[in-house]
Amino acid sequence: MDTFETVEVLLDVPLHGTFTYLAPAALAPGTRVEVNFRGRKQCAVVSSGVVSPALDPAKIKPVAGVFDELPPLPAALLRLIDFVAAYYHYPKGAALFTALPTALRVPQAARLADRRLWGLTTVGLAEAPPPRQRARLALWQALQGGALPLAALRAVSMQAGKVLAQWQEEGKAERVLPALPELAVAAGPGLNQEQQAALDAISASFGHFQSWLLQGVTGSGKTEVYLRLIECALAAGRQVLVLVPEISLTPQLLQRFAGRFPATRIAALHSSLADGERLEAWVDAWQGRAGIVIGTRLSVFVPLPALGLIVVDEEHDGSLKQQDGLRYHARDLAIWRARDAGVPIVLGSATPSLETVANAEAGRYRRLYLRERAHAGAVLPAVHLVDTRLLRLTDGLSEPVVAALQKRLQRREMSLVFINRRGYSPVLACPQCGWTSGCKRCSSKLVLHLMQRVLRCHHCGWEEAVPRVCPDCGNLDIQPLGEGTQRLESAIQRLLPEARVLRIDRDSTRSKDAWDEVYRKVHAGEVDILIGTQMLAKGHDFGALSLVLVLGADGGLYSADFRAGERLFSMLMQVAGRAGRAGLRGEVLVQTQWPEHPLYLSLVAHDFDGFAIRELAARRDAHFPPLIFQALLRADAHAAHEADAFLQQVKDEAGAWAGPVALFGPAPATMARLAGRERMQLVIECADRRALHQFLDSLLPVLAGLGRKAARGLRWSLDVDPTEM
Ligand code: ADP
Ligand code: ZN
Ligand code: ZN
Repeated sequence: MDTFETVEVLLDVPLHGTFTYLAPAALAPGTRVEVNFRGRKQCAVVSSGVVSPALDPAKIKPVAGVFDELPPLPAALLRLIDFVAAYYHYPKGAALFTALPTALRVPQAARLADRRLWGLTTVGLAEAPPPRQRARLALWQALQGGALPLAALRAVSMQAGKVLAQWQEEGKAERVLPALPELAVAAGPGLNQEQQAALDAISASFGHFQSWLLQGVTGSGKTEVYLRLIECALAAGRQVLVLVPEISLTPQLLQRFAGRFPATRIAALHSSLADGERLEAWVDAWQGRAGIVIGTRLSVFVPLPALGLIVVDEEHDGSLKQQDGLRYHARDLAIWRARDAGVPIVLGSATPSLETVANAEAGRYRRLYLRERAHAGAVLPAVHLVDTRLLRLTDGLSEPVVAALQKRLQRREMSLVFINRRGYSPVLACPQCGWTSGCKRCSSKLVLHLMQRVLRCHHCGWEEAVPRVCPDCGNLDIQPLGEGTQRLESAIQRLLPEARVLRIDRDSTRSKDAWDEVYRKVHAGEVDILIGTQMLAKGHDFGALSLVLVLGADGGLYSADFRAGERLFSMLMQVAGRAGRAGLRGEVLVQTQWPEHPLYLSLVAHDFDGFAIRELAARRDAHFPPLIFQALLRADAHAAHEADAFLQQVKDEAGAWAGPVALFGPAPATMARLAGRERMQLVIECADRRALHQFLDSLLPVLAGLGRKAARGLRWSLDVDPTEM
């Protein structure tokens, strides 16, 4: 036994720390091995650090196998995982296995297509086989021009496999990876002044860490700037990581990249890849063969030995944050990686997140603008507000918007009717004086729970009875914001019987074919009016829309979620961007009861910065992120009181040493009941990020202890920097 060494490994289990095994030799950190754990064969990865307590050597089990078909996982990935585990207070092993492609998570050797070629060594080249060995001579001659795949050599001689194996033994032939092709770049449009300025500034920062915010509306030419930057990086022999939201990873986008860099291997990582394809892409990136990795949030973990640049497009997009398991934010991890690798990172958006705006304002990120649309002739749409306070509505539609639809119908132009339903939670409001149901204990809005007839704060748990009249002006007619859109389609059809209406919702677009059919109809001119929810806001190209009608936007003005305004503005900018492409000046009509609301006034002026400055000031006054830092402790159970009791115990126990950290709740989650489970949450806040993380570190053992004693079936999770409350 004394020739064995102990190794520490990480396992895919919800436990903190490493596990000790015996190995016949020292194994490098990152080596994949097979171990027996709790009676099952499992894949494990040798850790760089020792965290487990000292064990009695007699009780340590041996490693059951070592997978060495690939080199050990790179140190940069293990460093990233160290950071992830510490920052999200998540078990390191589970974090590492989240980052790996499925094929590397299982206790099996990775099966990769063998793309190596056969070539002759200098020994082999020196000596031609005698002419009577005709097959050998033919193979030898075929290989004079360089290495070839086995299939090509089989075409020369059926005996190729046998002969080459023999030559390999004799040192005459060898297997080599194909050489990387020379960089080829197809021509793109000449840059305008702002694009050129952005390219110059960012490319001057190559070789060291710098975060850039590239702020420009849809169509302002951000992607064109990325492509030029990527060209610079590739020309310098570096690799590029491009993160995009789920919805933008379309065949059109990939074609645009592949068309620009026709000789470059582009590893595209999306959710519909088969395990084998994902592994190939991952390993190609890791081995330096892929010049560009483009993918959704999980791609942030792909190893890139020659990383030279990171791009995060639509950096404000919610899909960059993972909402279960390891709840990481891909943008934030991308910034960590850029810093670790000493390379620049570009965050692009028309409506950057307020976190990013705050960083830009503080000078941590450098900000660049693209203020114009890049296409000559494409102009921003005119945005108008339709004040419905004094208008009669028919099934939610006012007369001016019906008239606008009618006008487009006569001109045979397509309109889009957009219904905002995102994160809808009914908040009571008085249309007469502008009163809304605010919480007395914190800065949130109270949410109307019709069944129990109460108003409840989802932030701190405060509850009160539903008032019968407006507390400020006595108006009897107070209403929940943002209702009444269900019958919209039939209403439009009734009001405009000759219109060809196409409704797009989750059901009608469940399959890819359904989407293709939508595109076909739209582009064949078979649709006059498109109706749909936020899924229509971004990404899709519907050609020439001359009118965009926005309904139900008011619901996002006074929501219980303090991020609702930010999301609403971003979505309205996106949806407005649908109007007036391709040389047609578009019009956007927003139907509202709050036409003086500053958010709408900023929208009319296309003024994101004005909106962001005001919103940040409001967040500062209200002590909300990004001016303070948050974590959310969620618990769900069969009965609400079980989840409540668990969180209350945590609060009681941890409150004693919380110091500057404030604990709010327990309160029901916005979606208080999901799949038969009752969901509660505790909000943890602090103005000092470091103090918050120290607190969370000390909280983990408390959670583990109370979790063991809690009601059966109770589950809890910690969400650092939550984006959904
Ligand atoms: P964004 O990424 O900001 O939405 P894109 O880079 O996709 O913008 O550009 C929008 C459209 O304008 C694309 O069709 C693109 O090819 C074109 N474009 C971009 N830059 C220029 C330019 N400098 N001159 C002409 N067309 C351009
Ligand atoms: Zn009132
Ligand atoms: Zn409250």
